[in-house]
Amino acid sequence: YPPERIRNFSIIAHIDHGKSTLADRLLELTGVITKSGKNKQVLDKLKVERERGITVKAQSASMFFEHDGDKYLLNLIDTPGHVDFSYEVSRSLAACQGTILLVDAAQGIQAQTVANFYLAFGEGLDVIPILNKVDLPTAEPERAAQQIESTFEIDSSNILRISAKSGLGVDQVLPAIIEKTAPPQGSADKPFKALLFDTWYDTYVGVVCLMAIKDGSIKRGDRIVSSHSGTKYEVTEVGIMHPEQTPTTQLQVGQVGYIVCNMKSIAEAHVGDTFYREKCPVEALPGFVPAKSMVFAGVFPIDAGEFDSLNESIQKLTLNDSSVSVHKETSAALGQGWRLGFLGTLHMDVFRQRLEEEYDANVLITSPTVPYQIKYTDGVTKFIRTPADFPDAATMQDFVESTMEPYVSATLIFPEKYLGNMLELCTTHRGEIQNHTFIDETRVMLKCQLPMAEIVTDFFDKLKSKSQGFASFDYEESGYQSSDLVKMEVLLNSEPVDALAAVMHKNSVVTVGRDIAKRLKEVIRRQLFDIIIQTAANGKIVARETVKQLRKNVTAKCYGGDITRKMKLLNRQKEGKKRMKRIGKVELPQEAFLSIMTKS
Ligand code: GDP
Ligand code: MG
Repeated sequence: YPPERIRNFSIIAHIDHGKSTLADRLLELTGVITKSGKNKQVLDKLKVERERGITVKAQSASMFFEHDGDKYLLNLIDTPGHVDFSYEVSRSLAACQGTILLVDAAQGIQAQTVANFYLAFGEGLDVIPILNKVDLPTAEPERAAQQIESTFEIDSSNILRISAKSGLGVDQVLPAIIEKTAPPQGSADKPFKALLFDTWYDTYVGVVCLMAIKDGSIKRGDRIVSSHSGTKYEVTEVGIMHPEQTPTTQLQVGQVGYIVCNMKSIAEAHVGDTFYREKCPVEALPGFVPAKSMVFAGVFPIDAGEFDSLNESIQKLTLNDSSVSVHKETSAALGQGWRLGFLGTLHMDVFRQRLEEEYDANVLITSPTVPYQIKYTDGVTKFIRTPADFPDAATMQDFVESTMEPYVSATLIFPEKYLGNMLELCTTHRGEIQNHTFIDETRVMLKCQLPMAEIVTDFFDKLKSKSQGFASFDYEESGYQSSDLVKMEVLLNSEPVDALAAVMHKNSVVTVGRDIAKRLKEVIRRQLFDIIIQTAANGKIVARETVKQLRKNVTAKCYGGDITRKMKLLNRQKEGKKRMKRIGKVELPQEAFLSIMTKS
């Protein structure tokens, strides 16, 4: 296939607008998978992805298609829809020349539609808008088309209208890609040059690199070099994703395919790296900015004896997800563990779920925090990823010049009647409203600056409840701003518990301090002695609660003679025990760690 017979494209959309379903239909149409009615999101390979209906890792597939008497090779790259993974979206876009902007005709443009459009537009891709779900009785394709025209200045007269579910109109999608998107540039005569844009670990063949071939060709036995590290590799297998790894004799200019070479670990495969043939160096392509961890949480084994097996599980999981950063951490309260960095809270949840389900691990996770920056008076700047490391009141006064926290530019889209609620939501989360505009007669797009810390807690849940589920939200990082931050400490029977410490804005100290003490009181079970809970900031106690001791005779009475009830209670207690951690004499449940920073 010469480049003019190749198209590399992706599908971008707001979550649930139908990307994975459309990908299935296109794969069926081209015979890559058989039509069985059972193809549910074939490209969403991981179990959590299927369960949660989200695409976490970008997956690709090649298809063959005949159009106007010519045979084409089409490479589809499925992209994640969730904001946490916008890093994965941009790296897959760099391997494409065109993209389908899929919009649910019943919901219209949502926040991620806007964010994804600008990502693609910024990469210079040809964008083909398509309206999906026109089979729904609530579909309003005319209105969605108008929104597309007014928001993105794309002519709305020729927008395809399809139902990925029923297959209606799907046959027009591939011809549109061929006609409206550019073929890959590049030359077969130039020396081999390829962009590494995704990588994973395969149990049979080891590290697999997905590459876009920009010039020349590559086959088994060739020797290639990484521009990033200078390391040389021998290619042992090349092929295409069809939809599984399918070996081919070579990969040529314009193609997207996988390469297996003797890489030992995924750490050697740098996404964004340029590879060239040994002795034929080429100018490296502009690389990617590496994924930045924006949410950090401590992970500790419930039972210290499980440290080694947990260590192994975390290593295995990060083999396939290089966007998780891992550092050892020791907590006075929780012992040895790790501080893991994630792209966002969903990313963190997915990681935890995989750790527990795929590796049967029993872990305790501390509440998520963002990376803070401290500027000291001697000119040194430090990143703080663990609240316990945040300077105390005395240090703050003597050695700290300023404290800063990360901000995001947020986009919210919702029906006009929620405007009041949405403005209030942003303001109560320390947001700074920038503007709001109408994308049609009744829908509003609101832009504001928000501290990242506010959205890692409950912002998303609040957004959904205060808009009855009708508001959508997306954001991008917008750098650090100085902010009056303080550390809040939690003391149990006068002992500070480092793993419960939190960082917050000084104006939140009183309300949050009281709230944390109350919440802890609710989740800490009564024990054989009084437990005094205190929160403190700036060296002052903010709140105090007491969990009264349990009187023995009361338990005896309530467990009474009813044996089934007793068994039930005992079982429930056993369940609860799994996530209990003893700190000094006090037993703390997992909820105690998460109750910090989730505002009521
Ligand atoms: P993604 O998050 O963009 O990958 O969306 P999915 O492909 O997972 O689809 C989300 C939901 O919308 C699923 O329940 C699909 O069955 C449903 N869906 C997708 N396309 C259509 C369509 O054309 N019509 C209808 N009625 N439902 C659809
Ligand atoms: Mg999907």
